[in-house]
Amino acid sequence: EEKKSLNFIEQIIEEDLANGLSKDKLRFRFPPEPNGYLHIGHAASICLNFGLGLRYNAPVNLRFDDTNPAKEEQEYVDAIKQDIEWLGFKWDKELYSSDYFQQLFDWTITLIKEGKAYVDNQSSEQMAIQKGTPTEPGTESPNRNRSVEENLELFFKMKNGELAEGSHVLRAKIDMKHTNMHMRDPIMYRILKKHHHRTGDDWCIYPMYDWTHGESDYLEQISHSICTLEFKSHRDLYDWYVDQVFNASKLPLRPKQREFARRNLSYTVMSKRKLLQLVEEKIVSGWDDPRMPTISGLRRRGYTPNSIRKFSDTAGISKRDNVTDVALLEHCIKDDLNKTAPRVMAVLDPVKVIITNYPEDKEEFLDANYNDYEEGFGSRAVPFSREIYIEKEDFREEANKKFFRLKLGKEVRLKNAYIIKAENCVKDANGIITEIHCTYDEDSLSGSGTEASKRKVKGTLHWVSVKHAEKAEVRVYDRLFTDEAPDGHKDKDFKEFINPDSLNIIEAFVEPSLKNAKILDRFQFQRLGYFCVDKDTTETNLVFNRTVPLRDSWAK
Ligand code: ATP
Ligand code: MG
Ligand code: MG
Repeated sequence: EEKKSLNFIEQIIEEDLANGLSKDKLRFRFPPEPNGYLHIGHAASICLNFGLGLRYNAPVNLRFDDTNPAKEEQEYVDAIKQDIEWLGFKWDKELYSSDYFQQLFDWTITLIKEGKAYVDNQSSEQMAIQKGTPTEPGTESPNRNRSVEENLELFFKMKNGELAEGSHVLRAKIDMKHTNMHMRDPIMYRILKKHHHRTGDDWCIYPMYDWTHGESDYLEQISHSICTLEFKSHRDLYDWYVDQVFNASKLPLRPKQREFARRNLSYTVMSKRKLLQLVEEKIVSGWDDPRMPTISGLRRRGYTPNSIRKFSDTAGISKRDNVTDVALLEHCIKDDLNKTAPRVMAVLDPVKVIITNYPEDKEEFLDANYNDYEEGFGSRAVPFSREIYIEKEDFREEANKKFFRLKLGKEVRLKNAYIIKAENCVKDANGIITEIHCTYDEDSLSGSGTEASKRKVKGTLHWVSVKHAEKAEVRVYDRLFTDEAPDGHKDKDFKEFINPDSLNIIEAFVEPSLKNAKILDRFQFQRLGYFCVDKDTTETNLVFNRTVPLRDSWAK
């Protein structure tokens, strides 16, 4: 294992440790909002936070950031947990921001009493105008100097459901002239008369992200709260909020927010809002459609947890926004499956070969290794008979010397079987080849030890026996978008770049051993690529997803 240099988050932690932070105080969290399924971008954050947990032997909490009941659901909570477990990580505590609603409310009452928060009933447009611009200071709300009594009365009315949604908000009283716009009297609470997936109808006011996140980190004594770059400008507010409760409460550790760049991936979109649109508008079959950049989609496509962790690790983390080439992700799964997937035979675009000198009623069960180069994969019996399928593109009547496949008058080896020679072919009325007639060298069986078995012929083809083959539905995927950055166009909606040919369904023939394959089993179909059994598979319908073709487009 090569020695890797520390990433910049690890460097920050090392510095804190050197400056006296005790190692047993290290604690991290992963804080998803349960408003969608996790995607490959979240995997970067998961691998980073849980990776820190492993490196420092520190706990990592899973905290659901559930402060917006309008968009959050139990289904998402369950899916998120399943995906993190599947990736191979274990959280210390399962927690919810909503667990802290009462504590946050109590702290808020103190803030109001200290004159540090007030109720504003202006329209959101008015408040936006007063906010100013990055270069011009804001102006104070006429409600900024309400008395403490009036603020308490109004805030309780908000809490008790006596005021209409959108009519009032609670704001922190900080500084309307602050150079950081987030410090210009940010909203702490809004009225939302919505059922919450955990707290039901207990609350009709909900705390905003900033007021919730830092306080949740503080309550859990998270030492390093790692988030994405767009929150960098929120850091002043994060610290201000923590300062408000730090002296009055007994918890010793002040959490620290640090930021890294979001993971973006080429040829896809990553925002949950956009992924939800693809699902709701049925552009894909669901969150776990194998074309989706979600963890569940990648799993169904055939990705391994290992490949996703490797990808996150290799791509690394960065301080600046960037786009990672999807070819790196594909390289990671190919590399993993190359080491782990058994090799089997399937024909996706069949043409029939008849071996005219092979007895009509004969069949043989040939022993074939699942991997010719690695120990431990075992072998299976592959049936051989007079009629087999090969790929159409593996035969030409005539071809130049570089065509190392089957052509008239020339020989090839059939993988695990015999050497055959093409004698002639049969065509239909349109000139399409329907049968290829061959002869075989009876002594040339692979592994039989005969002179003929050692004969070198250029080209080895995969095949399946016609009468033994299983029919299978094979779903061949292409990128979901035709553009490298589908949501990077100002004047065009990302959906204008949907690839109309991102799913191609093929009826294929596979070797009979695959009849016993289970959902999510992964294979290399020799010479074709890596394939995985889809969950739509039934007793009578075998369905495979193509994970990736064999060819690697990642330039190292
Ligand atoms: P989205 O815009 O897709 O809804 P989000 O940031 O709102 O993303 P959360 O559920 O809040 O989604 O994210 C949970 C954690 O994962 C946060 O710490 C967030 O910063 C991180 N995260 C989300 N998307 C990415 C990404 N593309 N790359 C790295 N980390 C991410
Ligand atoms: Mg979020
Ligand atoms: Mg979000």
